[in-house]
Amino acid sequence: MIAFLTLLARNRLALAGGIVLVLVVLLALVTPLLPLADPDVTNTSNRFQPIFSDGALLGTDHLGRDLLSRLMWGTRLSLAVGFAAAIIAATIGAAIGIVAGYYGGRTDNVIMRGVDMLMAFPYILLALAIVAALGPGLFNALIAVAAVNVPFFARNIRGITVSIANKEFVDAARLAGLSNRQIILSEILPNVIPVIVIAMSTTIGWMILETAGLSFLGLGSQPPQADLGSMLGEARSALITNPHTSIVPGVMILIIVMSINLLGDGVRDALDPRLKSGALSRPMAATQVQRRDAPPAPTGAGLLEVRALETQFHLKSRIYRAVGGVDLHVEKGECLGIIGESGSGKSVTALSIMGLVASPPGVITGGAAYYDGEDLIGAPYRRLRDMRGRNVSYIFQDPLATLHPLYRVGDQLIEAIRAHRPIGRAEGQAKAIDLLRAVRIPNAEKRISDYPHEMSGGMRQRVGIAMALANDPDIIIADEPTTALDVTVQAQVLTILDDLRRSRGLAIVFITHDFGVVAQLCDRVAVMYAGRIVEEGPTEEILDAPRHPYTARLMACVPELGGGKRRLDAIPGLPPVVDRLPEGCAFADRCQKVQETCRRGDIPFAQSGGHAVRCLYPVGTEEVGS
Ligand code: ADP
Ligand code: MG
Repeated sequence: MIAFLTLLARNRLALAGGIVLVLVVLLALVTPLLPLADPDVTNTSNRFQPIFSDGALLGTDHLGRDLLSRLMWGTRLSLAVGFAAAIIAATIGAAIGIVAGYYGGRTDNVIMRGVDMLMAFPYILLALAIVAALGPGLFNALIAVAAVNVPFFARNIRGITVSIANKEFVDAARLAGLSNRQIILSEILPNVIPVIVIAMSTTIGWMILETAGLSFLGLGSQPPQADLGSMLGEARSALITNPHTSIVPGVMILIIVMSINLLGDGVRDALDPRLKSGALSRPMAATQVQRRDAPPAPTGAGLLEVRALETQFHLKSRIYRAVGGVDLHVEKGECLGIIGESGSGKSVTALSIMGLVASPPGVITGGAAYYDGEDLIGAPYRRLRDMRGRNVSYIFQDPLATLHPLYRVGDQLIEAIRAHRPIGRAEGQAKAIDLLRAVRIPNAEKRISDYPHEMSGGMRQRVGIAMALANDPDIIIADEPTTALDVTVQAQVLTILDDLRRSRGLAIVFITHDFGVVAQLCDRVAVMYAGRIVEEGPTEEILDAPRHPYTARLMACVPELGGGKRRLDAIPGLPPVVDRLPEGCAFADRCQKVQETCRRGDIPFAQSGGHAVRCLYPVGTEEVGS
């Protein structure tokens, strides 16, 4: 609740709308206590007094009634009717929607066709018909306005309910023996209430307008009783000669409806969990870059050279240093493994290279990524877009999330190719079949017209790989591509990647948390911890003789088949939170070999041969007593 209010208050327009609305409602509430003239007493000798005249601050109307007093009482009435209509419409509409959506089938059909019939009438005509049938009067206008809004709520809520009623937690509740009524009250309702609130907050203004409309036509409040609509209606004949009689209620309607709508939009944004991170806007097309100067390109460089890359997330007043100075080096045809616990910054490192980290909140604050000598950090968006997928492509963990559910996989492959070069339909089809064959999808001609949901997880991931291959890239960055797959499928996918690397000279950056996978595929491996590389070297060397205590502990967590019984060690403690990194070694708190000096200053990345380690007391060296 507090979080919701702070989020709402951060939206200036919503805050302004909220304040104005609260003021108007307060005024309406205290109206009976104020020393106002009687709103209904006529005094024809005192007609059409202008604004700011004696005894009538806002002047008088065509019957000499005090406009200020009528305005206050009228606002009170209009607000009450608008809110009441909204609550009635929301309650009845939501009830109908939940019942229809939850029970489905024939119940749903009968109810929703009835709702459709109501919706088929023009809105205001229906309201007029209802008032005509019930007779004019404010209460009947309220009923009419509520009734014409019920279908809107019913439709909205039904849609939400249908999607919730098919979720696993509802099935679980049903298995637990809960009755339908209990399920609706305890599982469905809490999930639809935010939607009801949002729908209400965005429609109350509209309902106040509709009530005013009916009153304007003489079908709502009856003389002498004032509401904003009837005041406007009565002032119509004097619109030219005495405009203030129309302006006074008109401005009030404007203020009320504006403030409600601004507040309503704010409520909608604040209740949307996707906007809770504080980012009220869509991420930019490329990650924001704020760096002083780029480190120079290394000489005799490999295909991809990442230098001192720093990526941060700026959230409110916090700065999360997700990547804190990473160097990577990838040769043509080489496979580099990046390994580390979840949250160590592997994905952010990989995404930073092509400017794919979401901004806001992501910012690249330093470093460079040289692809074939060209710095990608801070490259213009056009250039990045041109290179994404064509020079460097990505494979992600969850292929179901990266494939579009509504298009056939073949069409998605063709689209990936077309993004970079124009090809005809037939050529695209042939190329797509080739790609599916390359990733060993059996029966590629048929599979090409499958939808993603018709494929198994392993097949989908192969499509993901095919898509990454679509434009013959030089580097594929694979971010835990096998984590969602079972081991046999994982082995197949790894074999495919390995073959592709050998046959096409493809460089692969393979991100994983699994040493087994690294051993199978990678030439070199870099171990990441808390946003930095703590050890790097040839795969066999690191597997045989890890030097950083973290690497050693990480490997002790891997079970070995046939390795006899031994205790599997989890690493005690948790990785540090990256907005409060300790000075010195980030692993110090969890390290068994920690010394006083580990907590002081930056630990250098000491090279010896091809094997580098960021540790003062690496494993395998004699303990230095302090
Ligand atoms: P992993 O090594 O598991 O791939 P990530 O690179 O995804 O880890 O994340 C590294 C760090 O960056 C984590 O501490 C994570 O909390 C933080 N982080 C990632 N994305 C965001 C984001 N959009 N906003 C804030 N922090 C983020
Ligand atoms: Mg990740």
